Amino acid sequence: MMRLYDTAKQEVVPFKLRDEGKVSIYVCGPTVYAPPHIGHGRMVLVFDTFRSYLEWSGLEVTFVSNITDIDDNIIKRANELGVSCEEVTATSEDAWWKAMDLIDVARPDQSPHATEYVEQMVDLIQRLLDADAAYVTSDGVYLSVDKVDGYGLLAHQSLDQLLEGGGDREIVGTEKKFAADFALWKFPKPGEPSWPAPWGEGRPGWHTECVAMSLDLLGEGFDLHTGGLDLTFPHHENERAQAVALGHEFATHWMHNGFVETDGQKMSKSLGNTQDLTGLATHYDPRAYRLLILQSHYRSPIEISDVSMQNAEAALNRLDAFARRTAPSVAQADQAVVDEFKAIVDNDFDTSGGTDLLFRQVRDGNSALDAGQSRAAAVHAANVRELAKAFRLRLVEDQGAPEDMKLLAAERTQARADKDFARADEIRDELAAAGWVVEDLADGPVLRRK
Ligand SMILES: [Zn+2]
Repeated sequence: MMRLYDTAKQEVVPFKLRDEGKVSIYVCGPTVYAPPHIGHGRMVLVFDTFRSYLEWSGLEVTFVSNITDIDDNIIKRANELGVSCEEVTATSEDAWWKAMDLIDVARPDQSPHATEYVEQMVDLIQRLLDADAAYVTSDGVYLSVDKVDGYGLLAHQSLDQLLEGGGDREIVGTEKKFAADFALWKFPKPGEPSWPAPWGEGRPGWHTECVAMSLDLLGEGFDLHTGGLDLTFPHHENERAQAVALGHEFATHWMHNGFVETDGQKMSKSLGNTQDLTGLATHYDPRAYRLLILQSHYRSPIEISDVSMQNAEAALNRLDAFARRTAPSVAQADQAVVDEFKAIVDNDFDTSGGTDLLFRQVRDGNSALDAGQSRAAAVHAANVRELAKAFRLRLVEDQGAPEDMKLLAAERTQARADKDFARADEIRDELAAAGWVVEDLADGPVLRRK
């Protein structure tokens, strides 16, 4: 059985499932008011590779990730641009999915929009008021955190500490009973979007969305709630607080990915905004960020720089080159290697260890080929394909060079056959200037990106 670090328990525990063979996962999705940044990129790639690995292991995964399409940031952006909130959210959501396609992240099974769930949220808030766990002020409805058993579970602070400091990114209400109390519902300022509710028109707070959507789509006691480390507190704490106050069984496990650090100095100027996910995935091989993330532990911080991205690209080139050398491979993967891989990755999703094993197979496969051991090489090739598939890491055997580049490569092959090496070198330089490297393999030349 897989073992995972649980943020609530602060230790690695068996990943017990509600229903045998099935996993239900809720990932807090984006608030759509700006293009996705590299922090989003890490979060989606960690959980995309996690989902892929579980499916590869034979589990049936239900993966829900929401879209927050009503929020203070959206209203602020709409006001700045002088457009409607719908325009902001439609444009940003479009950019989000385009970026997800670019980095090859599988679509969630469901991606509910907060605005489709307002009725359920109103119902949830009413039940909290009925249970005396919430109160109405002049600017909204708040949850009383002192009414919640075990508040502070994820923050790992006592209620006393939280009541002292606490706080909410969204609102600072002067009528709040405690600093840690948070808004479930906000009354609108003139011109702000609002929905009807028994205690007054307004809009839901961010923390209320995910409780309503996750419990509705995944049910009581779903298996795993995830997101970036920054969501642990207050967002996840406050989601859980609402569920607990109403007697619901919320997520059994909590999993959070680490931060992304960038050093602007180390990033190329041509990249412009170094936080932009689409820019990063366009500037480099779109698979490079996935590999970089796989090579790190999901809970550790990672640093993105030109050097780390170039290293990831170089590793991808080794992987692709090996796949080309061994294509087509008809051998079966070695079960002992697959089992070793599973044993490594099942230990708190150790993708770094799993990726090391993958590249060891590449090295051993190349050595076998160099030694003329084609059968052994074919098994290594099958292992590499199997392990890469577990992480949804695609091998690119043909990098889709344009026709004119292919013609040049063919001309170079002819020049070499004619022993016109000067012309062959000239063409190689021409290809290089256009960003292509020509590799001479046993069955002919192959072009790959520089
Ligand atoms: Zn959430």
